[in-house]
Amino acid sequence: MVRCENLVRIFRTGGTARGGVEVQALQGLDLTVARGELTALVGASGSGKSTLLGILAGLDTPSAGTAEVAGADLGGLGRRARTEYRRRTVGVIQQQTARNLLPYLTARENVQLPMGYVRLPRRRRAARAAELLELMGIAAAADRTPQALSGGEQQRVAIAVALANEPQLLLADEPTGELDSATSAEVFGALRTANRELGTTVLVVTHDALVAEQVRRTVRIRDGRTATEVLRSEADAADRGPGAEYTVLDRVGRLQLPREFTESLGLADRVRLVLASDHVEVWPDRPRTP
Ligand code: ADP
Ligand code: MG
Repeated sequence: MVRCENLVRIFRTGGTARGGVEVQALQGLDLTVARGELTALVGASGSGKSTLLGILAGLDTPSAGTAEVAGADLGGLGRRARTEYRRRTVGVIQQQTARNLLPYLTARENVQLPMGYVRLPRRRRAARAAELLELMGIAAAADRTPQALSGGEQQRVAIAVALANEPQLLLADEPTGELDSATSAEVFGALRTANRELGTTVLVVTHDALVAEQVRRTVRIRDGRTATEVLRSEADAADRGPGAEYTVLDRVGRLQLPREFTESLGLADRVRLVLASDHVEVWPDRPRTP
């Protein structure tokens, strides 16, 4: 569903041709997400998570490298194709609950709004909105405006809005960032429901360790690159075990060791590699000084 290869995004600030400052928000990121997966994306503030989601949402374009979603090459979309992509292929949920919904429309009207953009026949809009609100567990709130809804209810309506045009990919940027933990669990539950019941591929940026523990795959971004992944088996997921830690190996064979590993063994500058029959050993260059 998603394939990013060597994805780069450079922001130029300061305006003038000379003397502007360059920020390399993504520096050669590789990421693959299979159809139907629910993946958590974690990483420190400023590591490039929102930049990545902006590109996948079709709101921003890469400076270099490839980003493909559902077969669409996001670097090369024309204006009309980009608009169609944003209306039909992806659904987006923002962290700021207030940004996802129009304040003067009811929950039902908010969910129906995107259906108008793709000219879904009017009589089908009401039925589909009702179905989605039901699926998100907020049918009772259909005729309320956002100000009459709790933060968690607003985010669940926002998920229904994002699902209105049956997107293949749902992108959520810290959707529970403004919520307490009980409410976060409900919102995360709604994302899981969309993934399970509708088969929508979900990529969710989160700071919430509990969320990251509940998904099969967690990808960590460090400094604009995918650094490590944790994959859990069904058994791990059931008892919330730690899961096995993986790291991304890019096309030319580079990998990044987690900082905990390099620090605990004092790995720096150069390491010694040994090829064994079924694995690779990474040794400190020198024995550690006591
Ligand atoms: P995260 O979502 O992981 O906190 P972001 O993707 O928002 O990280 O930001 C990554 C880096 O890019 C940061 O250093 C941020 O300051 C910078 N950045 C993001 N958007 C812009 C922008 N529009 N202009 C300039 N710099 C930006
Ligand atoms: Mg962010």
